[in-house]
Amino acid sequence: MASQIEQQVMRRLGSAEIRYTKGRRLLVQALLEADGPRSAGDLYRELKEEVPLSSIYRSLNTLSGLGILVPHHGPGGNNRFELSDWLMGHHHHLICKSCGTVDDIRLPGQTESIIEGLVGSATADKGFKASDHSFEIYGTCGDCLAEGRNEGL
Ligand SMILES: [Zn+2]
Ligand SMILES: [Zn+2]
Repeated sequence: MASQIEQQVMRRLGSAEIRYTKGRRLLVQALLEADGPRSAGDLYRELKEEVPLSSIYRSLNTLSGLGILVPHHGPGGNNRFELSDWLMGHHHHLICKSCGTVDDIRLPGQTESIIEGLVGSATADKGFKASDHSFEIYGTCGDCLAEGRNEGL
């Protein structure tokens, strides 16, 4: 599965005549394995400092500009990035207000249909045609709950 997504990434880069360098490859692979959006600092640590931080920032910019990555503006003002929905599939986010962790969640098709219906009725009055939606659910993650930390942000 990973290689199929990487092929799509390579095609998109290729059409912009941008090379899929080792640094970019490591970055995309780290995001493929991640369970939620990651900041440049997170990726730097997860890649064991193998890719310089400045190059991670540049790659995040390049890949976002091509629509391969999308920024996620979580709590704490720390920009996190993830692979776009056209690569990773539609999903939502659980955001811990205590530690700032952002987790991906995928909902069953039936639940998505209910949400589509709600989005439709919420936007119809405004004459707005919704094309997409994303849920951000705020609270306290399991780790923080277990350690008795409560929402601080
Ligand atoms: Zn937490
Ligand atoms: Zn996500």
